[in-house]
Formats: sequence, structure tokens, C-alpha cells
Amino acid sequence: MAIWPRSAVRLAAARAMPLQYGLHEMSIAASVLDALRAESALHGGARITRAGLRIGELSGVAVESLRFCLEVLVADTDLAALSFEIENAPWTRRCRACATVFRVSDSRPQCTACGSQDTEAAGGDQMELSFLELEES
Ligand SMILES: [Zn+2]
Repeated sequence: MAIWPRSAVRLAAARAMPLQYGLHEMSIAASVLDALRAESALHGGARITRAGLRIGELSGVAVESLRFCLEVLVADTDLAALSFEIENAPWTRRCRACATVFRVSDSRPQCTACGSQDTEAAGGDQMELSFLELEES
């Protein structure tokens, strides 16, 4: 039995997607848009013109893939004019001895100021909205 695609148009669109496209990023993009629509509703249906996202380098999210998924999902919707600013948040730790917050390099968790090994997570796994620009209607 031959299996035919339900729609040749849909198949052509799927082929045009970049190789790094991931379901992971697509589901994150969908939840970002849910969050934006909820924010818009909280502000009396105000139109969102710009949204900032902060994505930690430990989050496992490919930023360019996420950007692509967001663009695909907003195309031809009420959010089509929305632009995204996606910022990478570095992997950081805080020293319990001297309170320095430092960027982790080569996966070494010791303090770059005093050399202490006693450090705690300070950032790098986050996925958050950093700002929203709303147009009051
Ligand atoms: Zn220290």
C-alpha cells in the first residue's frame, strides 16, 4: 500500500524547515505565545509589539531554532507584527565564601575570585520573559 502525504503543500513547507528545527523548541515557542496572550489579556487586550526572552545556556534550547519556531507560529495570526529579542543568559554560579557571581568556563564550578569550591547555582538554566512592549488600545 502506498502512503501519500495528505497535503503536498504541507510536505513542501516541512521540507523548507532548517535542519536544527526541533519539537522541543516548537513546544517552548507555543508556551511562550500562550504566556504572551495571557499577558495581553491581563492588560485589557493590549497589543504586544515586542517581547524579550532570556534563555540560559544550560536550558538546552537552541536559540536560532526557537526564533524560527516563534516566527512560524505567529505568521498570519494576531501576533504577526510581534518582534522578539532573544538574549542568551550565561551559566553563572555564586561563591558562598566571597559572594562573587562568576561565569562558569570549562564546566569548572570553583570561584574565579578566591578559588573556593563552595559555590551555588546563580543562573544559566532559565527560560523567561525579560520584557514586554505593549500598545494600549
Ligand atoms: Zn569566592
